[in-house]
Amino acid sequence: MVCMLTPNGEFSIASALSLVRSHSNRSLGAACIWHRSLPITISFFMFRLVSDRLPLLEQLRRFGVQGPSRCCCCIDPQEERLNHMFCTGEAARQVWKVFEIQERRSSRISSARHMAIAWWIQPAPHRYFAFVYRLLPSLICWELWRARTSALMQGGGYKVNTDGCSLGNPGMSGGGGLLRDSQEGFLFGFSCFFGVITSLHAELQALVYRVELDDLLRFQSLFQSITHCFREANKPSDRLAKMGATRGSDALFDSFVELPPMARGDIRMDRLGFPSFWRRIL
Ligand SMILES: [Zn+2]
Repeated sequence: MVCMLTPNGEFSIASALSLVRSHSNRSLGAACIWHRSLPITISFFMFRLVSDRLPLLEQLRRFGVQGPSRCCCCIDPQEERLNHMFCTGEAARQVWKVFEIQERRSSRISSARHMAIAWWIQPAPHRYFAFVYRLLPSLICWELWRARTSALMQGGGYKVNTDGCSLGNPGMSGGGGLLRDSQEGFLFGFSCFFGVITSLHAELQALVYRVELDDLLRFQSLFQSITHCFREANKPSDRLAKMGATRGSDALFDSFVELPPMARGDIRMDRLGFPSFWRRIL
């Protein structure tokens, strides 16, 4: 692909995006992952799965992070790996078997990606079946992932989300965050004003707040996991960060009703599993 200069002779992200969209790859895999009938949250999840980019311990090891790895899907726990969780583990085997059409076919597959492809290319007797075959791998993997996350949090875990934002670069900046329990119940939230700094500085400042909260929770023996998530999955914290930047003051929210109405709506949507979107005019 050759990226041409715009009419005014300058390169822009908008022109590059337009070029990519017009020559988008319409492979079968991409068509199934980004199927219009799937929620965008599941599409992003499936894209990360087939790209081997889910936040599993085997990924963290690549960055030198070591830790105990035990799957939640087997009676005799094994090391948690992507293909084990979504294909060869006991829970995954049982689920795929329920939907199996061609007998013993899934038992010969040992890779999550190959399992999905086998469903996508499976000959369908009717177009309605083809529709189901295209969606089913994403839905099954998504539910396996949700079950795994739920099992991890059953011990009474806590989840911390923080975000930073800057209204300009540099500009008025703020940070925000939420602490929630394993059932997505609200515990407390905060909104801070960082002053006039760059967007990167604001993000790092919010990260420092998060690390301090992590240390506090660990000190109180409350296990919780640290994962990165995309901005679309962190909308309530992003809204609190913007609030801190625009108000120019700090605020602590001890109860759900004290939160700004829009943040309450974001949290409710998040709890119900609704995807969120960001619109940018190019
Ligand atoms: Zn297992």
